[in-house]
Amino acid sequence: MKAVIIGGGIIGLSSAYYLSKEGWDITLIDKTDLTDSCSYGNLGMIVPSHFVPLAAPGIVAQGIRWMFNSKSPFYVKPSLSGQLINWGLKFIKSANEGHVKKSGPHLTAINLLSKQLYEDLSKQPGFDFSFEKKGIMMYYKTEKVAEEETHMAETAKNMGLDVEVLNAAEAQALEPEVDLNVLGAVHYRCDAHLYPNKLNQQLIDDLKTKGVRFLTGQPVTQIVKKYNKIIAVNVGNEQIDADVFVMAAGSWMPALLQMAGLQLPLMPGKGYSFTQDHPAKQLQIPAILCEARVAITPMSNHLRFGGTMEIGPINDKINMNRVRGIVESVPAYLPGLEVAMPEEKKVWYGFRPCSPDGLPYIGYGAKYDNLLYAGGHAMMGLSLGPATGYLIAELASGKKTSIDVSAFDPSRFD
Ligand SMILES: Cc1cc2nc3c(=O)[nH]c(=O)nc-3n(C[C@H](O)[C@H](O)[C@H](O)COP(=O)(O)OP(=O)(O)OC[C@H]3O[C@@H](n4cnc5c(N)ncnc54)[C@H](O)[C@@H]3O)c2cc1C
Repeated sequence: MKAVIIGGGIIGLSSAYYLSKEGWDITLIDKTDLTDSCSYGNLGMIVPSHFVPLAAPGIVAQGIRWMFNSKSPFYVKPSLSGQLINWGLKFIKSANEGHVKKSGPHLTAINLLSKQLYEDLSKQPGFDFSFEKKGIMMYYKTEKVAEEETHMAETAKNMGLDVEVLNAAEAQALEPEVDLNVLGAVHYRCDAHLYPNKLNQQLIDDLKTKGVRFLTGQPVTQIVKKYNKIIAVNVGNEQIDADVFVMAAGSWMPALLQMAGLQLPLMPGKGYSFTQDHPAKQLQIPAILCEARVAITPMSNHLRFGGTMEIGPINDKINMNRVRGIVESVPAYLPGLEVAMPEEKKVWYGFRPCSPDGLPYIGYGAKYDNLLYAGGHAMMGLSLGPATGYLIAELASGKKTSIDVSAFDPSRFD
């Protein structure tokens, strides 16, 4: 049986990995040369701790306040685009307590499955992507956020996650090299981290040895359909047919689906990162600076800083003010860490594929019997890559899925 995968980010690569284990004959198509996508410069955190979707109560009001600050971590680019308005209305509708409660168990189930699959993958020959199970630290400086984070930690404990609330001294004991200036921290010991650049390259190498065909450097330009089936896609002068098509094109999913006459509510959420090689001081555990919404991850002998979420159309502009916002927030929490403004050419950016309710799209859509959606993971795509690929392989092969995927139904907004 033949499968075509459109998109070679972590979701497409993971889908290829598990489909090839099931014996599928695979062609993976990507418009780039697979050295950069949202799946490369991200912060590498594997986050069972993130059981609250992006669409949560308070985020709309907070987002509106932040919109007027050029260094702020969250920004919606005002526009009259129909896609944004449609997305925004669905986002506002989803940002409520009921949705958060309902989504939590689904996000936890897929996150835990994915973490287990990463652990298994890290033990396979040819894979060494600096996978470490040290958890992540949520650092806070204010009483208000301490209260919110402690409450969140209690909920996490009740969901069976391994988590501990630490005072400043206890947190400092876990970071001997770097001085902290925080009120306290929540240590999500259930989390992990890895080096995404290595992971993606090793997946590509492994898939090539397994005979997966890579068609890179050219976009899919047409989707050929007949009745309720996709029959082929066009790339350059070639037409490639298959039994099953996996749409894993990240933030470009709406544009591609439009070629098949389909609509999908999804907006790009641009984020920035920069990486220090051989940092003077190294963190032991990845850190999230809660009030600033900045993340920092040690990746073997590198240290990566990142953040911001700009909801708006795809563009190649680097807003150095937002990068400055990341840099300037660090000394307040970690005065022991040296961080200078990076040169513009050293700043990476990527587009998180954001669904309006903060849940991914995994499964068959309503219109075509052989089109699988795999995307919309927003800030959790790296974490959820293996589980998504695993579920896609189960669905393509007609098996019962390992976890309930009903919450991720791609046609839930139809
Ligand atoms: C600053 C930042 C930090 C992050 N940190 C984390 C983190 O710590 N943990 C975590 O879990 N997630 C994190 N994320 C989110 C994560 O990076 C994304 O969710 C994930 O990379 C999305 O993967 P994807 O495969 O869906 O999309 P992508 O990686 O964007 O891949 C999509 C691919 O589709 C291809 N494509 C597009 N159009 C076409 C076409 N017409 N034809 C062929 N190919 C096409 C593109 O070239 C691209 O390679 C972060 C994101 C950012 C921006």
